[in-house]
Amino acid sequence: MTISNIQRRRFDSLIIGAGGGGLRAALQLAEADASVAVVSKVFPTRSHTVAAQGGMNAALANVLPDNWHWHMFDTVKGSDYLGDQDAIEYMCRAAPKVVYELEHFGVPFSRLDNGRIYQRPFGGQSQNFGGEQAARTCAAADRTGHAILHSLYQQNIRAKTHFFDEYFAVDLLKDDDGNILGAFVFDIHTGEELIIEAKTTLLATGGAGQLFRTTTNALINTGDGMGMALRAGIPLQDMEFFQFHPTGIAGRGMLITEGARGEGGYLVNVNGERFMERYAPKAKDLASRDVVSRAIETEVREGRGCGPDKDHVMLKLDHLGVDVIQKRLPGIRQTCITFLGMDPAEEPVPVYPTAHYTMGGIPTDRHGQVVIPVKDTPEEAVTGLYAAGECACVSVHGANRLGGNSLLDILVFGRAAANHIIDYLKENHYHRPLNEKSVEKAYQRLHRWDDTGEGESVEKIRSDLKRVMEKNCGVFRTQDVLDNGIKEVSALHEKLKHARIKDHSAMFNTARVEALELENLMDVALATVYSASARTESRGAHSRVDFQERDDMNWMRHTLYSLEGRKLDYKPVRTKPMTVATFPPKARVY
Ligand SMILES: Cc1cc2nc3c(=O)[nH]c(=O)nc-3n(C[C@H](O)[C@H](O)[C@H](O)COP(=O)(O)OP(=O)(O)OC[C@H]3O[C@@H](n4cnc5c(N)ncnc54)[C@H](O)[C@@H]3O)c2cc1C
Repeated sequence: MTISNIQRRRFDSLIIGAGGGGLRAALQLAEADASVAVVSKVFPTRSHTVAAQGGMNAALANVLPDNWHWHMFDTVKGSDYLGDQDAIEYMCRAAPKVVYELEHFGVPFSRLDNGRIYQRPFGGQSQNFGGEQAARTCAAADRTGHAILHSLYQQNIRAKTHFFDEYFAVDLLKDDDGNILGAFVFDIHTGEELIIEAKTTLLATGGAGQLFRTTTNALINTGDGMGMALRAGIPLQDMEFFQFHPTGIAGRGMLITEGARGEGGYLVNVNGERFMERYAPKAKDLASRDVVSRAIETEVREGRGCGPDKDHVMLKLDHLGVDVIQKRLPGIRQTCITFLGMDPAEEPVPVYPTAHYTMGGIPTDRHGQVVIPVKDTPEEAVTGLYAAGECACVSVHGANRLGGNSLLDILVFGRAAANHIIDYLKENHYHRPLNEKSVEKAYQRLHRWDDTGEGESVEKIRSDLKRVMEKNCGVFRTQDVLDNGIKEVSALHEKLKHARIKDHSAMFNTARVEALELENLMDVALATVYSASARTESRGAHSRVDFQERDDMNWMRHTLYSLEGRKLDYKPVRTKPMTVATFPPKARVY
């Protein structure tokens, strides 16, 4: 096979990723009569969005008084003032509309007795700018992502979106001016390559939770879109901010949704003490995630952990009664029965922080356009390229994401990106010629793995990487530990160049996929440790033992990490909202 024999297909718009972000965008485009292709390395309904449990935020005020401005305040505060306030305003205002649209697409939201959509309390949410706890999270029991993803998939089938299921995207393709014009992909089953030419390309490839050993994320969350962006010369933004969810099943990482605490569950240490009262006197167990994760780690470090190794705390749910648990948290109950052999309706669940969410990603504006600093301008759009969902950094989550805000983010910005693309297509009728060198580069990258290599195995390097990241870039960080992380990840990066993959066998294509995924993960890991080592302050999820204070004088700015020379750059936070007044930084207490 040579490049000239590779089949080429043309579409108006290519979407890489079939999670909630990709499918929401695809639907908008297909309904506007654009020809749209969706590429996904797994069958669409297996994307990680399917695993989302607790719900999505929208100020519907169905349970308690609420409005989008309060939601906006909570999100800015939750982000530790690093979120861009124009994008946050846009998201919080759009939220109710996006929920009603989903309802009309067929999402079976849980209901109140009066028939309205049920809303549960979640962490970091308040009424009246920091007052009483709010109830803002719309849920379909504890299987919200499942309901949303399946409804969106069915709507896309109806709208005749073209799916390339189980195709792996290797790299983005460009024209001579550097505009993005599609991607080089291959069919994982047959190995057959395909060049997809498109007037616009949207990256919706999800997060990179596989960076860490203990994680709530699926095996497929390897940061592929972020890797592709880096190789296309686009920097990654705010990669030092990685969210550790406070309540993973201890030692295993599976998620117990924050909804469990929203429904009235609480954490206790070995003395049976409800310790969150000490760390967050007002919000207690529903403080922001970074705050609760640090509290749990501190309890364990100071010897108040539970179990024979005193290495976790307990989440108490049994007082809620079996009826509430069965109605509101049936999936959690099943997870505990399956993986722990215990029923949370009868005894407390052992929990510990686990890697969960990539706050950083590909820099975009609120229309989903990928934007980068060019010469003297703070940012300029990369023609033809968009990003939405967890792979993007728009940035609505800043230094810490609030629970229930990611499903919202992927849907709001998937939709916004599609609307921008629709306008772009109205003015750009023709396909531009590809730069064949960019095709050649992607082809070479894939075929590097034809040679099975002689070095260490891809599996071994991947498991070493996850261990190194857990040890050197976890909840609490110091300069020494982070710098050591840079050293160790760089060494693994070198090893990967000579790594060995399985023989040419029936498993050949999946072995190639694993190798390509690890290359992406490795670049994302480097971006993460480099950015974390540079940021000498504590903000949101980035908690430095050696720099415990937030430093607004020097660090109210986004980090940008480039592949070329592993260089760091910075850009200002967009503190000006669209229509309301700025929320200036304040001490962040819960
Ligand atoms: C266990 C769990 C529970 C969660 N619960 C909640 C919650 O209750 N509320 C909330 O707001 N958020 C929650 N989150 C976060 C939220 O679910 C995710 O951030 C969000 O669903 C990500 O959606 P996405 O569309 O960006 O990507 P994903 O759903 O991760 O989809 C990524 C897509 O990209 C495709 N892809 C990736 N790389 C390639 C490649 N190289 N080639 C081809 N295709 C590729 C994949 O096949 C997939 O289709 C949860 C996350 C987890 C892990």
